[in-house]
Amino acid sequence: MLMLLISVNSKEQPGITLISAALLLSVVSMFKYLTHKADWAGISHWLLIIGTLITLGNIFVILQDVNMMTVQIIILIIIFSFYMLGYRWGIAYSLANLLPTLGFLLLQHETSYIIDFKPEKFDQSTIIICVFANFILTIFVIGHFYNAFIANIRQLKSVSDEQAQLNRKLELAMQKAEKSTHAKSEFLSTMSHEIRTPLNAVIGMTNLLLMNNPRGDQKENLDILKFSAGNLLSIVNDVLDFNKIESGKVAFENIRIDLPELLNNICGGFIIKAEEKGLLFKLDVDSRLKNKVFFGDPTRITQIIFNLVSNAIKFTQQGNVWVRATCVEDRHNTSTVLFSVKDTGIGIAQNNLEAIFEPFAQENITVTRQYGGTGLGLAIVKRLLELQGLQLNVNSKPGVGSEFSFQMEFDVSTEVIEPVEAPKPLPDANDLSYLQVLIAEDNIVNVMLMKKLLSKWKITPTIAENGALAVQKLQYGNFDIVLMDLQMPVMDGFEAAREIRKLVDPKKANTPIIALTASALFDIQEQVYESGMNNYVSKPFKPEDLFEKMQALVSIAS
Ligand code: ADP
Repeated sequence: MLMLLISVNSKEQPGITLISAALLLSVVSMFKYLTHKADWAGISHWLLIIGTLITLGNIFVILQDVNMMTVQIIILIIIFSFYMLGYRWGIAYSLANLLPTLGFLLLQHETSYIIDFKPEKFDQSTIIICVFANFILTIFVIGHFYNAFIANIRQLKSVSDEQAQLNRKLELAMQKAEKSTHAKSEFLSTMSHEIRTPLNAVIGMTNLLLMNNPRGDQKENLDILKFSAGNLLSIVNDVLDFNKIESGKVAFENIRIDLPELLNNICGGFIIKAEEKGLLFKLDVDSRLKNKVFFGDPTRITQIIFNLVSNAIKFTQQGNVWVRATCVEDRHNTSTVLFSVKDTGIGIAQNNLEAIFEPFAQENITVTRQYGGTGLGLAIVKRLLELQGLQLNVNSKPGVGSEFSFQMEFDVSTEVIEPVEAPKPLPDANDLSYLQVLIAEDNIVNVMLMKKLLSKWKITPTIAENGALAVQKLQYGNFDIVLMDLQMPVMDGFEAAREIRKLVDPKKANTPIIALTASALFDIQEQVYESGMNNYVSKPFKPEDLFEKMQALVSIAS
């Protein structure tokens, strides 16, 4: 339209210029109005009708001729009609423009239409036939392009529709899976926690009975009870731990470790077990690892080595079990240590070497029957190492033995460990009757247990059934130490500890607090210190542990 306007304007025909300008204006406003409604088929029809009218008006009224600009408009109409309205409308608008144009050309020129193939110069009839043939070709090409284009778009659309549907299905399935995993892990943690609480009481009571100088036969029964309850507890702990690792909630500590001492402590308990089975237990620690301060996570290292050694002893009937720690690389402030646990036990078949790392998987049903276990130990070890970017290697031959090993890099401090002087024992180590102890605990069985335990050390504790009461009692009473359960109604142990630390009286605000945690889980320990408590014992705790920690804290405070 704009081109038409410029063209007629240059011919100095003010009347026609005016009509063209009005037409342009109406086309623009129509376009604006129609695009506002966004009905693309309607808009296209409107534009094509206006375009056709302009072409025909141009040919029959304004110019009374077919010039290049008219031809261009017709080509535009053909292309536009095909792409915007489809094949049928494309043909219709093309014919609506072409037939009158061709008619006009034919009427204008009445001579013969036989093409002279050796013309001196093109005559009008040749041009008409060429133009006509060009138009037919244009319609043909555009028609085909259009069909291919639309077919492609439809195909693409159906593929992307299918993909979108699949994606939605996948998303729903993932959401469902996530929900059910979450529900499963919630269920496991709740169940494990619920089982741990009464189990703690069983173990605690057994410990108390064992402290009461039982008869020989009673001691035997109590030992079995203690062993079985301990076993059950370790299964529950494994489930809880695995669950936690799977949900990615494990954080690793980076604290000072005396590696040889840590290994000694881990293996100490196993030496007796191995001897009972007639096995030779050997712990080899590289001399380059001695007298150095390593930084790492002792809890997790213990868990890994403990699982591997306990398997080695469990699956070995005769021969040896070795635990080795070798320094494979010693740099200025880092060291790489190779840990290996080797046995001469039943070994593992080559084709089962992958499966045994799956959770709840054991090599075969015979193993399950003969040795028991949950099949979680190696899954936990493998995942704990993987979370630190480490790999667990296994070398095993049925009937010959197995070796599990991994390398771990530690930050090393250059300072040398000074041998620590043993703390001097207090005058009467078993009499803490001078201590005023406040116990915050809501579970009646646990309260009973704690009372009995403390009575061994001649302590008569005061009980608060929840955190809020504990804060209150501490405020109005005189206490040397608080033993704080963590999960309590009204106010939990963490909150209560924070409240105590905020008390105005500095003596009361600084009262030593030992947390009684129901879980050995790692993040709880962090929270315990964060909330201002001084130490913790994980239920079921060894009475000596609690005794030592109480004594240490009270002697610091006094
Ligand atoms: P569990 O010890 O509770 O069965 P684990 O995950 O620790 O579970 O071990 C999985 C399986 O791997 C065991 O059941 C056993 O078949 C095999 N296995 C692990 N350690 C050894 C070993 N030192 N010797 C032989 N087989 C082993």
